[in-house]
Amino acid sequence: MALINEHYLKLAKDYVFADIAKHVKAFEVSHRNARLISLALGDVTQPLCPAVTEAMHKAVDDLSHVSTFHGYGPEQGYLWLREAIVKNDYLPRGIHLSTDEVFVNSGAKSDTGNIGDLVRWDNSMAVTDPIYPAYIDSNVLNGRAGLRNEQGEWSNVTYLPCNEENGFVPELPRHRVDMIYLCYPNNPTGMVLPKEELRRWVNYALRNDAIIFFDAAYEAYIQDDTIPHSIYEIKGARKVAIELRSYSKTAGFTGVRCGYTVVPKELTASTMDGQRRLALNPLWLQRLCFKYNGTSYVSQRAAEATYTPQGREQLKQTIGYYMDNARLMREQLSALGMKVYGGTHAPYLWVRTPNNTPSWKFFSEMLYGAQVVCTPGVSFGPAGEGFVRLTSFAQREQCEEALFRLKRWMKGEAAFA
Ligand SMILES: *Cc1c(COP(=O)(O)O)cnc(C)c1O
Repeated sequence: MALINEHYLKLAKDYVFADIAKHVKAFEVSHRNARLISLALGDVTQPLCPAVTEAMHKAVDDLSHVSTFHGYGPEQGYLWLREAIVKNDYLPRGIHLSTDEVFVNSGAKSDTGNIGDLVRWDNSMAVTDPIYPAYIDSNVLNGRAGLRNEQGEWSNVTYLPCNEENGFVPELPRHRVDMIYLCYPNNPTGMVLPKEELRRWVNYALRNDAIIFFDAAYEAYIQDDTIPHSIYEIKGARKVAIELRSYSKTAGFTGVRCGYTVVPKELTASTMDGQRRLALNPLWLQRLCFKYNGTSYVSQRAAEATYTPQGREQLKQTIGYYMDNARLMREQLSALGMKVYGGTHAPYLWVRTPNNTPSWKFFSEMLYGAQVVCTPGVSFGPAGEGFVRLTSFAQREQCEEALFRLKRWMKGEAAFA
């Protein structure tokens, strides 16, 4: 008899965005002429830049001729892409990585889930709260997260609240943990971690022999050069941190699919008996070779093109476009008396609901009152209660129209002129 992995039964039935979609559907059924604007999804709207699409066209041509055809590539990605990553993403920040410390993948999400394969199932883990839900759910499936209580908290997970009181900067855990997930710039709060704060985390990991999984999917949105783009800007981080990056939000690759994971050679973990310390880098390569067959040649050529002078300039403009949206949103929502966080180094705004309205209630009020869709903060964790997340990824006209409606609605006028 085949027995199922019963850890699945512990997971919440609905993914947050499926839940939102259900509410939106119900609204649409009773409002046939609705003109909804979504500021909920973490997906980009602007097309790929010309430098990238040109490289993709050329890559397709390569695949069309016997002399330039490519079949299976190296599991960890083509050397030319890994060289471009080392040279462009790290070297200018004084970080010297070797190409075999970089593992190209088909986007960061799968590796945020897969990376836990490197360590025993019973390691203890800490996450910031609120948090990108995928980090926890993948750990539920191997039993690491424990059991879920009615508030949606997992018994073996240490939650590090990020709230107005601590300025959305998590405190170090009071007891030691083995694994820590950090995401900066943060999804959902849109907040960043200054260098000295990140240094506290690296030092904590060094002291406690812990591993940090650092998700830097939004590093390209950082506008202030004193804020670290990479955890390896911190001394000692190579011994304790794995970094995950993605072209999804930096270059609009949410549909193309490409990202990478950095596993430094100095990063080691101990065997259960404490007798041996082993490097995780060769283990990750080993895992990759039997569970993955490489990212498509076309996607990797596309990623490589983001580093050309034209590519860089074009991407800067697209990010500027989203950040202009974010600025408009920040200014206009603040002018309405709302408390708005984030949105200066990230495409997310973390907005306090008025009068402590619960997240889901405010979500519905906004949906019915202004026909604007947000993401309830509580769906990212208990500390998200009383907040909603808005994204700046909409097209400018949609963003402006949403703000116009929100303004009228908040002032008690009909949202539609
Ligand atoms: C969007 C996002 C990613 C990137 O996911 P991909 O699989 O690369 O598209 C990673 N981490 C966070 C927190 C994200 O929001």
